[in-house]
Amino acid sequence: YRFSRRPELASRLRVSFEFFPPKTDEMEERLWKTVTRLEPLEPRFVSVTYGAGGSTRGRTARTVKRILDETRLRPAAHMTCIDATREEVDQVISEFAEMGIRNFVALRGDPTEGVGARYRPHPNGYANGADLVAAMKKIGDFDVSVAAYPEKHPESPDFATDIDMLQRKVDNGATRAITQFFFDNDVYERYVERVRRAGIYVPIVPGILPVHNFAQVTNFSSRAGAHVPAWLAERFDGLQNDPQTHALVASAVAAEQVMDLVERGVQDFHFYTMNRADLAFAICHMIGIRSHEPAAVGQVAGAAAA
Ligand code: FAD
Repeated sequence: YRFSRRPELASRLRVSFEFFPPKTDEMEERLWKTVTRLEPLEPRFVSVTYGAGGSTRGRTARTVKRILDETRLRPAAHMTCIDATREEVDQVISEFAEMGIRNFVALRGDPTEGVGARYRPHPNGYANGADLVAAMKKIGDFDVSVAAYPEKHPESPDFATDIDMLQRKVDNGATRAITQFFFDNDVYERYVERVRRAGIYVPIVPGILPVHNFAQVTNFSSRAGAHVPAWLAERFDGLQNDPQTHALVASAVAAEQVMDLVERGVQDFHFYTMNRADLAFAICHMIGIRSHEPAAVGQVAGAAAA
């Protein structure tokens, strides 16, 4: 990789990590190990998802609160507006704000009835992600991220409609878009070109999904509006019962994708960690994002004193 000969790029790269709120004590422990491992990489922010239709509202709040209280990280709370009245949504925004949250990821959400269910805005609710951004900005001067879809959202009839929606989110105050995961960097690049041609200049941060479980990824990819290319299926073919090789292949695939994006000039990355640190940590290491542990600073100071 040409990147390996351009170490100066590393200082300009910034990452963020996404977690989901844990359901059990055991999952909480695993998340906490992950957070502790990733914290020294000094991400721009870490975000915590909001379960379908607000089902994890309490757990999302507890998780962002714990991150605020026990780490130096900046937590961003995901929020959706589906199946809720405007008053309910405003109330949740205010609760997060009172807790000290200044960063949000604003999303419409998906119908809880599952695949194939048609989205219907709540009659007294916010109709879409753009409306939710506006609601947040009315309550406080928050930093709001929104979703973007390099392969367009499955419900958008065409790219023009899709990008119009992104435009509305930005007009209402969103400062960055995080993309749905994708595996073909050309698709991302073409999308960013379209967005720029439409006059939208906020960062379009690629959402990177390290493939912890290929079968699962194929299952939810069409719903998510993300295509799994044949070459990727080929790489994971036959590894269903070989977790070790699967993990090695997954790390090679994600590293290759991220390093190629760096070559194309991308400087911000958002990792869908699935609450695991290993792959995200290794990829960060490869692109030169290293630990800034207080211990490391102490060692340097000690060395200087000696
Ligand atoms: P919008 O941008 O509002 O809309 C997407 C598309 O839906 C539009 O382009 C349009 O085609 C159509 N549409 C919008 N409004 C209407 C309307 N009024 N009538 C008819 N069609 C309409 N989901 C969660 O539940 N919790 C999360 O924490 C979460 N985090 C996410 C993080 C990221 C980075 C991404 C990419 C997605 C996330 N999602 C999450 C999934 C998201 O909720 C779904 O993709 C959802 O289908 C669209 O949300 P949006 O904010 O992009 O929608």
